Parts: sequence; C-alpha cells; structure tokens
Amino acid sequence: MKNVLEVNNLKAGYGRISVLQGISLAVKDGSIAVLLGANGAGKTTTLRAISGLLKSEGEILLDEQDINGKSADSIARMGVAHAAEGRGTFTDLTVEENLRVGAFRRKDKAEISLDLEKMYGLFPRLRERRAQKAGSLSGGEQQMLAVGRALMLRPRVMLLDEPSLGLAPVIINTLFETFSHVNRELGVSMLIVEQNANLALQIAHDAYVLESGSITLSGPAKEIASLDGIRAAYLGD
Ligand code: ATP
Repeated sequence: MKNVLEVNNLKAGYGRISVLQGISLAVKDGSIAVLLGANGAGKTTTLRAISGLLKSEGEILLDEQDINGKSADSIARMGVAHAAEGRGTFTDLTVEENLRVGAFRRKDKAEISLDLEKMYGLFPRLRERRAQKAGSLSGGEQQMLAVGRALMLRPRVMLLDEPSLGLAPVIINTLFETFSHVNRELGVSMLIVEQNANLALQIAHDAYVLESGSITLSGPAKEIASLDGIRAAYLGD
C-alpha cells in the first residue's frame, strides 16, 4: 500500500534544544496511525514539523512529494489538516462560519454546501448550534467543531493532537467512533497523537512509540497493544 505521508530522519527543536533526533514514520493511504509517548517525548513537535509550523530537517513526503520547507499555509492547501491541541476554533465566529473557514482552499461552492450537510450529519450537535458563537460551545462541542473544520478542507491526511484532552469519557468514545467512521467512509488518513492509548490503539492500524525524540517501537496497532511493556506504560495495566 502507498504511504500518504512519510517522514524520514526528521530532526527538529527549539533554538539550541533538539527534540526530534531523526525520526521516521509513515501513514499508509487510507489508514490511521497513532503516535504514543510520554509527556515531553516530542509528539506535538512532530505534528508541528509536519504541518510546517516548525522548521525541521529531513524528508516529509506527502504523496511522495517532499513538502519540508513549504509554508504552513501551502501545506494545508496541499491537504494536510492539523487539528491542534487546545482546539483552536475561532471563538468569535459562529459554528457555521468556522466550518466554512475550513473549506478556504476550495472553490467548489456546491460541494462545500454538501460537505457542510455531511458535517452536520456526523455531528448533530453542531447543526443545533450552527448560529452560535464557537466560544460559547462546551469543550466537547468545540472539539467536534475543530475536527469538522479540519474535515471541510477535504484533507488527504489529518493530524490530530490529543483530541480527547479535557473531554468526558462518553464524548471521547463518540469522537473516536467518528474518527473511525470518517476514515472508513471518507477515506481520510490520520495521524493521531493521544494520551488515551487504549482507544487510539483500537481504531488505529499502525502504532509508533516515541521516547525522548526517537521512535523506539513501531508495528501493527494490535501487536503493539499486546506488548507487556506498552500495556504497563500506556494502557494502565
Ligand atoms: P505532551 O504530551 O506533554 O504535550 P509532547 O510529546 O507533545 O508532550 P512536545 O510538546 O513535542 O512533547 O515537547 C517536546 C519537548 O520540547 C519538551 O521537552 C518541551 O519542553 C520542549 N518544547 C516544546 N515547545 C517548546 C518551545 N516552544 N520552546 C522550547 N521548548 C519547547
């Protein structure tokens, strides 16, 4: 299977602090990969480097084309949607305005309206609140909006940073079901960074473990989930 996203020997850091020590990972076309790791391992740094928010060295291939060095804006236009930690919706815009902003790179007006309907189908809560300011939504609703907005880009691949952060368990379950659904039905590939390793490993096809800026383990999610060391470190056994 082809890789939609492939990272080879990626190095990044902040000033003199080097964080990523040359990591390599891949997201197969149409699949979900999860990136696990303790606090400070460099997970967020990895996503920020891929989406061009942070300078990095190494190869970042999107559909076999190296995008490293391009601006965050052009990388988004090429189909990499980054739903950052802490949500980042436009709080002064309404739900519907936020969703339309997500489609900024697209010119297919009629299709955009259809996709808007699709988002409301996925997230009925957002339909009910379509005219409400994003800033007045609950945490879970804002998270859904951030995901919906990223999907409106019709991305090739979605980078999701800690999507379950601060959400109630029932909402987390729904959210992960939605990711799985979006992956299967819309064929959107995903790279998910998640503390809630249990759920993430359930919906992911492949898993990577990042420790102190290096990938120390990778393989099919099912296999990684069955390892004793992983169960002890990330699954609370
Ligand atoms: P967490 O789960 O805690 O968010 P993470 O794996 O996402 O962890 P990163 O946020 O990528 O980790 O951070 C990796 C390292 O880089 C940490 O040691 C962190 O302190 C450092 N770091 C992150 N952002 C900056 C910054 N803007 N300036 C300097 N150091 C930073």
